[in-house]
Amino acid sequence: MTFRTVLLFGAPGSGKGTQGKILGTIPGFFHFACGDAFRNLRIDDPLGKVFIEYSSKGQLVPDKSTIELWKKNIQASTSNGSFHPERDMLVLDGIPRNPAQAEMLKSMLDVRAVFHLTCTDMTKMVERLQRRALRENRLDDAHLEVIRRRLEIYDQETKPVLEYYGSKLVHSVDSAASPMNVLRTILNDIAMLDEKQPKR
Ligand code: ADP
Repeated sequence: MTFRTVLLFGAPGSGKGTQGKILGTIPGFFHFACGDAFRNLRIDDPLGKVFIEYSSKGQLVPDKSTIELWKKNIQASTSNGSFHPERDMLVLDGIPRNPAQAEMLKSMLDVRAVFHLTCTDMTKMVERLQRRALRENRLDDAHLEVIRRRLEIYDQETKPVLEYYGSKLVHSVDSAASPMNVLRTILNDIAMLDEKQPKR
């Protein structure tokens, strides 16, 4: 089967996580944040070590391990009853992060929309990341050097995912707007998708 999916897409600091967490509290949505799944790994898990090695340098974890982690989490959430694939919309945040991952997920996802949270104000994004580093104790956002690397990798490796899905699926949302207004836009667009789709 394929999962009915919307993707939250945007640079580090664009507010994907904030929106994803809110959407995940609404009945009928299931939120998966790939970075959270990595951070939740046990300290003695070999993949946890790989994650620290890459993320502390601002780099992406290799694709194969990432997709396996995704599969394991989705399977676990389905078996413990938190995700009901037949009725829930899957909200993916932070995955796929390059076209190779999109290709690896292709047979499993029915992508209905890609929400591209845009932010042209670099200073604002860097500020958000630095605030979060303090609040959430995130190693990858504590140093400006790593933040810069993360933003570069986003431009070079992640942005091409938008072309992979094509402009028809991409909804651009100004992430400099307040969280409430970003949420309102996303929810409106999702409601319109539902109207276009026959009821299941
Ligand atoms: P942000 O949204 O601020 O970039 P995330 O929490 O999504 O942060 O990701 C933190 C780190 O986790 C990334 O820099 C990367 O090392 C790793 N990571 C998360 N998702 C993926 C993915 N899909 N593929 C590879 N690495 C990932």
